Amino acid sequence: MSPKFPGSSIGIVGGGQLGRMLAGEARRLGYRVAIFDPDPESPAAGLADRHWCSDFSDRNALAEFASAADVITYEFENLPAESLTFLESKVALFPSPEILRICQDRRREKAFLLQRRCPVAAFCPVERAEDLTKALSLVGTPALLKTARLGYDGKGQVEVSEPADLEGAWHELGKVPAILEKKVSLEAELSAIVGRSATGALAVFPIPRNFHREGIFDYSLVPSGLGERIEGIARAMAVEIASALSLIGVIAVEFFLAEGGQLLVNELAPRPHNSGHFTLDGCVTSQFEQQLRAIAGLPLGDVSLRGPLLLRNILGDAWTQGEPDWEALLSLPGLRLHLYGKRRLSAKRKMGHYSVIASSIQEARAIDERAQAILRSSR
Ligand code: AMP
Repeated sequence: MSPKFPGSSIGIVGGGQLGRMLAGEARRLGYRVAIFDPDPESPAAGLADRHWCSDFSDRNALAEFASAADVITYEFENLPAESLTFLESKVALFPSPEILRICQDRRREKAFLLQRRCPVAAFCPVERAEDLTKALSLVGTPALLKTARLGYDGKGQVEVSEPADLEGAWHELGKVPAILEKKVSLEAELSAIVGRSATGALAVFPIPRNFHREGIFDYSLVPSGLGERIEGIARAMAVEIASALSLIGVIAVEFFLAEGGQLLVNELAPRPHNSGHFTLDGCVTSQFEQQLRAIAGLPLGDVSLRGPLLLRNILGDAWTQGEPDWEALLSLPGLRLHLYGKRRLSAKRKMGHYSVIASSIQEARAIDERAQAILRSSR
């Protein structure tokens, strides 16, 4: 693959916050950026040289977009894979749409993971009403019924505390293909984000420990503090997964650490990930730059950590009482603020994040407490 040097044009399918951060890093490196997203106010559009504002299945617009890009990538998973295959027939596109096909369907994803001997929580596919009884007998309760496709941030999943809840959960999700998955008693959650280049070189970022609130990513701590044994297993699985997929790009592997110490893979995302946003301020190379380097056929960057840090999402509920007190927030030492330029507010919408780099996790936590108090006071 011939390298695409700065000055070339990077096409990004999807214009959300991930596309925006990818576009920001691409521009810093001197690339031109084309975004494809049907939303005229998509967060990435403001940072792009060109914005194709069309439906993801509009072949004419996709063909034009392809002709304006030297290499294409994508920033979210709920895309028609056929559109990516169409783009790939015109211009280089990474990661391969085949990888997206695996990751956008929980049934295929689990089958792939099991084939690679990566442990996952007990589960059973549910395609139709007749499968419910079998799923209950195989998985038991408590469990979660998750739609096979189009789930994110805890959407498309319903808790099944006892057998009598399953029928209602199946109705609630609209009787679409799903999986019933055992609810794991969690000791911790962590993720491994790995970049793989066209030459097969691999680099795993420092492992964050992640905390969720109501199914939505809330904050991360890096280093994870979970110990070398756990981190080593996570790194090895992430490398195995990226290699088995012949990935070119970055992939996030989310893990559950179950009580008792077993590490299970929760899910895969073949793109930069919320739990990797810490790399923007915390690592020599960010996950976004790594994605760009990989798809452009350049060497992977240094993933070293600059210092202990905490990263926290800012959701729309921080605006409940009006605009948050940015002046107070920005006066905190070690804090770096990232806002995604979204105009439409809703309580759970991801509006931005901040990271705090400090000399220790304890110090980062103390500054984070102050940051949270400032954001709460505007609620
Ligand atoms: P998901 O969208 O599947 O990544 O789920 C979002 C969050 O819900 C996870 O990060 C966990 O905090 C929680 N969760 C999902 N599946 C399970 C499970 N099988 N057991 C325990 N917690 C889960």
